[in-house]
Amino acid sequence: MATYTPMIEQYLNIKKNYQDAFLFFRLGDFYEMFFEDAIKASQVLEITLTGRAGGTDERIPMCGVPFHSAAGYIEQLVEKGYKVAICEQVEDPTVAKGVVRREVVQLITPGTQMEGRSIDEKQNHYISTLSEVTPSLYALAWIDLTTGEGNVLLLNGSIEEAVLKIAATGTKEVVVNEDFSSKAIQTLEKSFSITVSFEENVRLSDEFTNVVKSIDQTSLKTTAARLLNYLSRTQKRTLSHLQEIVVIHQHDFLNMDMYSMRNLELVETQRSKNKQGSLNWLLDETKTAMGGRLLKKWIQRPLVSTKQIEHRLTIVELLMENYFIREDLKELLKDVYDLERLAGKVSFGNVNARDLLQLKRSLQTVPSIIHALKSISHETIDELINQIDPCEELQMLLENAILEDAPLSIKEGNIIKDGFHKTLDEYRFVSKNGKNWLMELEQREREITGIKNLKIGYNRIFGYFIEVTRSNISQVPEGRYERKQTLANAERFITEELKEKETMILEAEEKMIGLEYELFISIREQVKQYLSRLQTLGQVISQIDVLQSFSVVSEKNGYVRPAFTEEREYIVKNGRHPVVEKVLLGSEYIPNDTNFDVETHQFLITGPNMAGKSTYMKQVALISILAQIGCYVPAEYAKLPIFDQIFTRIGAADDLISGQSTFMVEMLEANYAITNATEKSLILFDEIGRGTSTYDGMALAQAMIEYIHDHIGAKTLFSTHYHELTVLANQLKFLKNIHVAAKEQDGKVLFLHKIFEGAADQSYGIHVAELANLPKDVISRAKELLNDLESNSHSYVKEGIENTEKEIVTIQVPKKEIVQTTNKEDAESQLSLFDDHQPVVKEVVK
Ligand code: ADP
Repeated sequence: MATYTPMIEQYLNIKKNYQDAFLFFRLGDFYEMFFEDAIKASQVLEITLTGRAGGTDERIPMCGVPFHSAAGYIEQLVEKGYKVAICEQVEDPTVAKGVVRREVVQLITPGTQMEGRSIDEKQNHYISTLSEVTPSLYALAWIDLTTGEGNVLLLNGSIEEAVLKIAATGTKEVVVNEDFSSKAIQTLEKSFSITVSFEENVRLSDEFTNVVKSIDQTSLKTTAARLLNYLSRTQKRTLSHLQEIVVIHQHDFLNMDMYSMRNLELVETQRSKNKQGSLNWLLDETKTAMGGRLLKKWIQRPLVSTKQIEHRLTIVELLMENYFIREDLKELLKDVYDLERLAGKVSFGNVNARDLLQLKRSLQTVPSIIHALKSISHETIDELINQIDPCEELQMLLENAILEDAPLSIKEGNIIKDGFHKTLDEYRFVSKNGKNWLMELEQREREITGIKNLKIGYNRIFGYFIEVTRSNISQVPEGRYERKQTLANAERFITEELKEKETMILEAEEKMIGLEYELFISIREQVKQYLSRLQTLGQVISQIDVLQSFSVVSEKNGYVRPAFTEEREYIVKNGRHPVVEKVLLGSEYIPNDTNFDVETHQFLITGPNMAGKSTYMKQVALISILAQIGCYVPAEYAKLPIFDQIFTRIGAADDLISGQSTFMVEMLEANYAITNATEKSLILFDEIGRGTSTYDGMALAQAMIEYIHDHIGAKTLFSTHYHELTVLANQLKFLKNIHVAAKEQDGKVLFLHKIFEGAADQSYGIHVAELANLPKDVISRAKELLNDLESNSHSYVKEGIENTEKEIVTIQVPKKEIVQTTNKEDAESQLSLFDDHQPVVKEVVK
């Protein structure tokens, strides 16, 4: 058995409880790491690995970072998904007997980070939890420790849906219990790079009674408790900024799963996973960080209440009508600091004088914001104004207390204004005017005593004194002068007054700094009393900010205020895709109408690749999303229903859940839509079924269309390459064919991007391939084959090549709809797919 030195023993004892973290062990001016931690940290942080004697024969691996620059290293580790336990000396080393007592004072994890580059001012920084109530019911909670915001949600669905939902919050860390599904944990870690942590304690401590006040359900309460306990256990301090957790009811919002949000590129683009190019990016004209965060939340959670939507739209309209007021407002908002994150800093004790100055400036701006809004004079705006609490007393306090040019450090003085605190003023006065005062005293005493050469002096042992030469001793006043020291030819005295001032002068500087610190801490405590008021203020300001942002974007891009209808109609004139129209380089966006009248629930969209089918489908969804978040929409006219859910199956399937085939994911998504959609939903299915053989795919596609048509009645846009499906319009009452037009010109295809009624008649696939610069030989061979196919569907297959899937027979059916199948023999069975609807075969082209 190796025996380590007592300090290493202490280290090992502490480390035992923090196996999954780097233990930053405070040793004087350094945080040191030992053993495995040291080896790994030296690699990750690229710092030198050294060693240290520790009582055994072998040296212990060690590496360390200086205390004053530790923050950057901690950040690096946490951003890579690691945890860091900060272990401090908790007693004064000069008085400690034996090894200094040390304790972990905080565990910093990806979800509990309060500062650093990964804290984006316009993004929430969530930590979350999820627990199974029943196998089809999950309780979710997510909290932003930096702002104190918290949410819980009861989700009806599978564990996969719960995982997707929690990932969609953008959470950095998920806290679960040990029994939680290991497969789900793996998905969180591998597919989403989310750190998973464990917490078993679900008993709610009294500290959090208020935080969970609005939660009724026990399952949600215990789930929230798990997360709160984890925060409390790792942060080891009172978290007074945690706001009352909001219970989110899914039915209060337009629901979209993570796939849909990705497909529609609401907050990030699919390819680069960047905000740039997303709807969020387009709409972000917010001036405050809080507004930026709220905007993202609104985009992810559009409303379903017409009243709430109209309320937002009315404010947007008023802000558009009052252009100059809105422009003023924009300028004012720039001066509003991140009140929510400030509340977090105050609660963590990290706030400095500069933060408080920014708070003061924000509060000073509030009356001007109220004033600007008042001049709009409209009752909806007045309601908004009534929610604004300017926290005047706090503003006064900060105004009176904090110096304009206070430094970052709170331990060096120069923070508090003159006149704020009497004793501080005296210290300052004494320190600044100490010399003056002494000179005045000297003068005064000379006059009183008549001793012309009386002087005031100082030495380190006796401090300040009045020195009188021996010859003048007789003139020293009785009683008032107290003898202190006798020299060869002089006596030194002290007076009560001088004694008092002496201590003050000597200690003034030191005390001044100490008192300033104390006063600052006490002001910080007073700010704590305002946390929830500041948070509420922050919320109102951020709403105003998002609404002004909507009005700016709507104005800039020529949007129109949408109207809503209870009828199941979606009528849009000259609608545009809000983002594509902004990013098209060198060409104009072609607007398109959408006429989902009461008689139309489904559009089957055909047209060549690249014609604009998916852009059009997304446009339909995005216009509704914009409308339901309370923004104007890119169109000339819009009358819309309120959708309860939007489902999309667009583009290459993005397999987020554990190794399913693309086709399987497609089917899972389709199933999710079909089982959850209602007649109030919108479904976008882009080329469903293309991942399998033609027959399979077409059969599935048709079956889905019929099912949605007969049993759901959701508004559906269904794009397809199976032209055969277009005959469905004859059979299904609420289905209409539309197509995106393209024109052939000089052997090249010309995309018109224009939607027309009826089905398309050509695919232009080869032209698209040509545009993609496929080798000339490939293109000409394809053209040759196509020619053969079109003129003689029997003979194009070269001898020896067996491929039933590539033989195509073209059959014309009434109304020029085209049915394509894989070979002549199968033409009959292909048609039998449509047996129910009995299309008439007019002519078989051979
Ligand atoms: P499809 O789904 O039919 O293959 P996309 O919707 O992907 O085609 O559109 C292909 C490209 O055509 C888009 O990237 C866009 O640049 C352009 N486009 C689509 N719709 C329009 C439109 N209405 N006006 C102008 N350009 C468009």
